[in-house]
Amino acid sequence: AARSAGCGRVRVFDWSMRERAERVMDLETNLREGLVRDEFVLHYQPILDLATRRLRGVEALVRWRRVDGELVPPGEFIPAAEQSGLIIPLGAVVLTEACRALARWRAGSLGDSPFFMAVNLSARQFTQPDLVKQVVTALRREAMAPADLKLEITESVLMEHPESAMLKLRGLRELGVSIGIDDFGTGYSSLSYLQRFPIDTLKVDRAFVSGMEEQGNRVIVRSVVSLAHNLGYDVVAEGIETAAQLDDLSRLGCDMGQGFLFARPMEESGIVALLDRQDPPALT
Ligand code: C2E
Ligand code: MG
Ligand code: MG
Ligand code: MG
Repeated sequence: AARSAGCGRVRVFDWSMRERAERVMDLETNLREGLVRDEFVLHYQPILDLATRRLRGVEALVRWRRVDGELVPPGEFIPAAEQSGLIIPLGAVVLTEACRALARWRAGSLGDSPFFMAVNLSARQFTQPDLVKQVVTALRREAMAPADLKLEITESVLMEHPESAMLKLRGLRELGVSIGIDDFGTGYSSLSYLQRFPIDTLKVDRAFVSGMEEQGNRVIVRSVVSLAHNLGYDVVAEGIETAAQLDDLSRLGCDMGQGFLFARPMEESGIVALLDRQDPPALT
C-alpha cells in the first residue's frame, strides 16, 4: 500500500511539473510572437528633484499590450523573458525605443534642458559581452548625449561577478553613460566593491520608503542617503505614495524621487504634456 501511494505521489508530481513546463512554454511562445508583432510598449514614470519638485528625468518601464488591448505588467513576463533569453531582443527594443522617445522630446519642448532617460537592465542583459557596443549603437542612432542615459541594474547583478561587472561599468562610464543601482537595500552589497564601482545613483527600494513610518525602515533610508552622499552618489527614492513620506525624504536630504504621489508610469503623450507645460516642469 505504501508503495502504491508512493507511486501515485510521483505521478501527481510529474503531472504538475509537466503542466508548469507547458505553461512556461506557452508564455515563451507568446512572448516570441509578441516581439514579432511589436506588442511591447514603453511607459515612462517621472523622476523629480525633491527640493524643487521639478522633473529631472523619467524611467522607462515596459508593458506588453496584448491583441485584446490588455496591458500586461513586466512582473508577469520579465522573469520568463530572462529565463528564455528573449530578454535580449526585448531589451534591445526597450533601449532603442527609449532613446528614440528622448530624441523626440529633445526635438520638441524639452530642448536641451538637463534630463535623463533611465532604462532597466536585467542580469542577462548586463552580462552580454557586447552590451557596451549595443549602447553605443543606440546612442549614435539617435545622436543622443550619453549623459542623458542612465542604466539601472540591481546590486545582485553587480555582486555576482564583481570583477567582470567592474569592467562592464568602466566601459559604460567611458562612454559617459550614468549608472543607477536599482532596489538598493534588498541585496547583499559588499561596501568595499560598492565604493569602487563607477556608480552615479542609488535607488532606495520602495519597500523601505513605503514602510518609513516604522523606525527601522526610516533608519535604513537615512543610512542609505548618507552612504550614497558620502560616496558621492545621488539618491532616488522609489515608490513615494504619501505627503508624509515625501516630507521625511526631503528632510533626510534625498535628492530625487518617483512614485504614485507625483505620477504613475504614463504613455509618452503624458510626458510630452508635462514637458509642454513648462521648462523644466514642476509636478506639485
Ligand atoms: P523597478 O525598476 O524597480 O521599477 C519601479 C516599479 O515600481 C515600477 O513597476 C513602477 O510602476 C512601480 N512604482 C513606482 N512608483 C510606485 C508607487 O508609488 N507605488 C507602487 N506600488 N509602485 C510604484 P513596473 O512598471 O510594474 O515594473 C516592475 C519591475 O519590472 C521594474 O522594477 C523592473 O525591475 C522590471 N522592468 C520594468 N521595465 C523593464 C525593462 O524594460 N527591462 C527590464 N529588464 N526590466 C524591466
Ligand atoms: Mg528600475
Ligand atoms: Mg527600482
Ligand atoms: Mg523596485
